[in-house]
Amino acid sequence: MLDEFLNVPRVAYFSMEIALRNEIPTYAGGLGVLAGDTLRSAAELRLPLVGVSLVSRAGYFRQEIDSEGRQIEKADTWDPSRWAQPLDAKVAVRMEDRPVWVGVWLYVVESHMGGRAPVLLLDTDLPENRTDDREISHYLYGGDEAYRLKQEMVLGFGGVRILRALDFEISAYHMNEGHSALLGVELLRRYMYPSDDVRPGELPYDLPRVRDLCRFTTHTPVEAGHDRFSYDLVKRLFASSVYGYDDRGAPPPGRPGAEHGPIDFALLSSLAGERELNMTQLALNVSDFVNGVAKRHAEVSSNMYPGYHMRAITNGVHPYMWSADVFRELYTRYVPGWCHEPELLVRVEEIPDGAILDAHARAKQALIDRVRALTSITLDAKVATVGFARRMTAYKRPELLFSDLARLKAIARARPLQIVLAGKAHPRDEEGKRLIARLHGLARELAGAVSVAFLPDYDLELALLLVAGADIWLNTPQPPLEASGTSGMKAAFNGVPSLSVLDGWWVEGCIEGVTGWAIQDAGSLYEKLEHLVLPLYYGASDGGSGWVRVMKGAIGRNAAYFNSHRMMRRYATEAYLR
Ligand SMILES: *Cc1c(COP(=O)(O)O)cnc(C)c1O
Repeated sequence: MLDEFLNVPRVAYFSMEIALRNEIPTYAGGLGVLAGDTLRSAAELRLPLVGVSLVSRAGYFRQEIDSEGRQIEKADTWDPSRWAQPLDAKVAVRMEDRPVWVGVWLYVVESHMGGRAPVLLLDTDLPENRTDDREISHYLYGGDEAYRLKQEMVLGFGGVRILRALDFEISAYHMNEGHSALLGVELLRRYMYPSDDVRPGELPYDLPRVRDLCRFTTHTPVEAGHDRFSYDLVKRLFASSVYGYDDRGAPPPGRPGAEHGPIDFALLSSLAGERELNMTQLALNVSDFVNGVAKRHAEVSSNMYPGYHMRAITNGVHPYMWSADVFRELYTRYVPGWCHEPELLVRVEEIPDGAILDAHARAKQALIDRVRALTSITLDAKVATVGFARRMTAYKRPELLFSDLARLKAIARARPLQIVLAGKAHPRDEEGKRLIARLHGLARELAGAVSVAFLPDYDLELALLLVAGADIWLNTPQPPLEASGTSGMKAAFNGVPSLSVLDGWWVEGCIEGVTGWAIQDAGSLYEKLEHLVLPLYYGASDGGSGWVRVMKGAIGRNAAYFNSHRMMRRYATEAYLR
C-alpha cells in the first residue's frame, strides 16, 4: 500500500492541522488550508513530500448560530476508514508513567493531473490505550494545556517514530508552527555522539546534524500566539520518557542511538528557554532554515526573534482547488497549461472581457443561491457584493466595516451594496464569539438599507463559493497581526479584487487600482468604497470596462504569482535542497 511512496527520500511536512477535503474537518483556518494546498501542489508537481498530522476524529467543530446570533459548537466527527487506510504500524510515546500507543492512517492526496502524495494521520484511539489517552487525537486545538502538550508529543515524538516504523527515508523535516517542534528533540536523541567523544559538561547531542535536517516556518506574528508550556507540566508528562520500546513497539533490541534515553532537561532549557518551554524558540534552534510566510511577516518575526536569519517565502493557494468551475473552464480554454504553470495567467489578456464577466456572473449567482438556501436572505445579482470570511477573532476586525452605520447607509443609498460574511470563532475565544453575535445585531440594524448575510459553518466549500461569488473581497486585519492571509489570493483566482489593509501578503499583492485597493482604517475604507470602488463597479466613469480591467489585474498579477506551485518551487529549491 505504501510501496509507491517509499522509493525516494521525502520531506516530512508536519502540521497540527491539514485541510485535505471538505468532508474531513481536520483544520481550523488558514494554517490547515495552507498545509492542504502544500500537499496538493506537491502531488501535482510530483515533489516528494509526506504530510504528518493528527487524525482529529472529532474535527474542529461544526458551527450553528442560534436566533440571538450566538455560536453553538457541535462535534464534527468523521470516520477515517471512509477516506483513509489504516497502516500496520504502531509506536509508543511515553507519557507520565505509561506508554501511549500511536497508530496511523494513510490518506492519499490525488491531483486531478495524476500525481499522488501521502499524508499520515496519527491516531491514539486504540484499544491498548486508557480512555483519556484514546481521546488525545480527537479534538483539534481542544482541551487544556496538558491536552495540547500531549497532542504535540504525539505529533513530534510519535510522528518521527512512525515515519521510521513505516520505512520512510526522510531527507528533511519541515515544522509548520511550533506545534511539531518536539520532533527536533526526538531527532537529537536519535543522533547522539558516542559517549567517548563527549567532554565532561558538554551535551552529547549532534545538534549540527539535526539542524541540517530541520526547516521551520513560523505562521504567527505575535508572541502570544506561540505555544509555551510550563516546565512543571513538561516534567510531569515527560517524567518517564525513557523509551522502553522501539519503533514497532517491541522492547529495544539494543540499537545504538539514544531513542531509549531519557529526555534531558539541560538540553530542553538550552534550546527552548530556561523558564518555560517555548515551542517556537525550540523550533528555531533546531532548524538551519527558518522563514516567515510573507515579506512583512519575516521582518516582524526577525524583530521578535533577533539573531536568526529569517527568510520570506510568501504563501500561495492551490490553483485548481481555488478556482470556481467556470474559471477553470475559462483558463483551460484560453491559457492552456495553467494548472501546472499558473504563471501563465499573466496572459489573462487572451480572455475576452465578456467571458470574464459572464463567468463571474455565474459564480455570483451560485453564491446568491446558497445564501438564500442557508439564510433565506435574497441578495440581488445586480448589486455590488462585499465578501468577508475568515476565522472570527479580534485582530481580524470583522466589525470595522460596520463602525459607522449611518455612513455605510449613506454610501449604499448612493450606490447599493450588500454584504456576505462567514467565519468560526475558536470555542475558547470569547471575544471572537462576541463578534459573531455583534455582526448579527448589526445585520438587523442595517435591514432595509444594506442586506447582510452571515453564512454558518464556514468551510472549504463555502470559502470557494464566497471568494468567487463576491465582487469585492474585504480584509481588515490589525497590522502587523496578519502573517499572510490567503483568502484574498483565492479571490484573485476568480477575478475578484481585494479591498484590504496593507498587511501580510497584501503588502506585496496590492497595486493600487490595478489589483485592488489599500485601506488603513474605517475612514479610508468608506472613502474608497464610496468614491473609487463602487463608482468603478457601476461603471460610472467609463462605461464598465474599468472594472473588468481590475478583475484581470487580480488574475494576471496576483493569481499568477500568489499560488502554492510557486511557493512549493521556492521551498523545494531554497529550503529543501540545501
Ligand atoms: C482560506 C481559508 C482560511 C484562511 O483565510 P484568511 O484570509 O487567511 O483568513 C480560513 N478558513 C477557510 C475555510 C479557508 O478556506
